[in-house]
Amino acid sequence: ASQLRPEEQALFDVYLRMLGDDAMPGEVGNRIKEGFWAQGALKQVVQQYVRHFEMMDDHYLQERAVDIRDLGRRLLSHLQEGEQKDTVYPENTVLVSEELTPAMLGEVPKGQLVGLVSVKGSSNSHVAILARAMGVPTVMGLVDIPVNQLDGKDLIVDGFEGQIFASPSTDLRNFYQEICDEEDELIKGLEALRDLPCETTDNHRVSLLVNTGLMTDVVRSLSHGAEGIGLYRTEVPFMIKDRFPSEQEQREYYREQLEAFAPNPVTMRTLDIGGDKALTYFPIQEENPFLGWRGIRVTLDHPEIFLVQVRAMLKASEGLNNLQIMLPMISNISEVEESLHLIYRVYHEVREEGYNIHMPKVGVMVEIPAAVYQIRELADRVDFLSVGSNDLTQYLLAVDRNNPRVAQLYHSYHPAVLQALVRVAQDAHAVGKPVGICGELAGDPGGALLLMAMGYDSLSMNAASLPKVKSVIRSVSREWSAQLLEDVLLLDSPHVIKSCVDLALRNAGFGRYLRPGKTGAIAHAERALS
Ligand code: PEP
Ligand code: MG
Repeated sequence: ASQLRPEEQALFDVYLRMLGDDAMPGEVGNRIKEGFWAQGALKQVVQQYVRHFEMMDDHYLQERAVDIRDLGRRLLSHLQEGEQKDTVYPENTVLVSEELTPAMLGEVPKGQLVGLVSVKGSSNSHVAILARAMGVPTVMGLVDIPVNQLDGKDLIVDGFEGQIFASPSTDLRNFYQEICDEEDELIKGLEALRDLPCETTDNHRVSLLVNTGLMTDVVRSLSHGAEGIGLYRTEVPFMIKDRFPSEQEQREYYREQLEAFAPNPVTMRTLDIGGDKALTYFPIQEENPFLGWRGIRVTLDHPEIFLVQVRAMLKASEGLNNLQIMLPMISNISEVEESLHLIYRVYHEVREEGYNIHMPKVGVMVEIPAAVYQIRELADRVDFLSVGSNDLTQYLLAVDRNNPRVAQLYHSYHPAVLQALVRVAQDAHAVGKPVGICGELAGDPGGALLLMAMGYDSLSMNAASLPKVKSVIRSVSREWSAQLLEDVLLLDSPHVIKSCVDLALRNAGFGRYLRPGKTGAIAHAERALS
């Protein structure tokens, strides 16, 4: 009661009334008497209520349909189970779900999560990105697995190949154990690079930064030698709570990140919800969520969210001065101007309150095709640019990053994506502004080489990829990479481009980074075991 506004509390009265004997339960009871089984009767009634809410004119009430669905699910789980069981997570837990959510990852006790499998989603979904950052092997979009039959079975999750094996034979176990051992060995070998600069053999320097969301990412990043944070996804702490975190709570999260990396820069992105990132307490229901109310569009429509967040960031930066603020989903110059206006306003207010803070650098994400064609106009207004190649790929190719059916069309090596990336780097440098990239392509050793050749000043990636990218960049010259880039820009197929980059990596001695185990071992083993 102390955390919710009166109008939200009033909603719980409505729920309680819906749960009264003569409302929902009464209607379910009547249907059972008509001969339906309890679960089916519940479904019919819940759907009727959901339709009722969805048809309401008021947007807020329309969105309450999500709560009704949740209520229905909770009732259903009681009907199914008789008594509620507390889930006991085994020491090595592989979480298998129809639809994985970021919150589910947090439910498994620390250190016990070793694999993730999801029917829905794809490797570009946010939950997959989080899992990658946590270093947990994950397979998404396995559309035809019998989820209910896997409970309690031994599983091998091969995140490299996107496969799972249930009840594996001893041979298969031994084969995969060998891959795990080799991977550990490889990572240990890379530890020596931690304090060395990320520099090509002809002395071209690139900054390697990390993407973070949780504090565990920070700990891992520091041990991998990151030079700062290129993207702190602030929506992650928002997603693991059941209400908007207060200014003070946000300030504490932000301070942790800023302190861990000071004096190096920490780039905090303002809240990027919508698309596949939902807050249970701020549901957004749309036909096309990725083309809808997402990122800066939400926070400029709700300046109270934006202002509290920026205030918390600025206060958290006192005495450290390593904060940079980044704006997501920019498709119009006016969004940048409006955001800058709000940031300046908060800056002056916070200073007037007596905080000794500096104005942070502000940057925009280039992740919508429109932004690619307005680099100069954007760069004139901000201090830096950062390409979000995950969304830029999805929007340039019109491929939903979350949809397993079109996952094979989602390709960051697509010639159109590469051409756009070249153009962004050129245009930003033409007006003297630094440009980085914080999409998954930066953490792909081949992708990182191409981006370095394009002139990107910084590459921001998940901590686990950082040592591999550093070792590749340190072993080649910029000239060699520029030639590779020139060659692939002449090609017209994303698959051929990928093969060409892979071949170059293999020839340079990095075959082990492309697939696990000894080259060709998997194909060989697959044949042997099938
Ligand atoms: C991107 O779109 O590339 C990006 C870094 O942001 P997110 O994956 O969080 O949308
Ligand atoms: Mg994005």
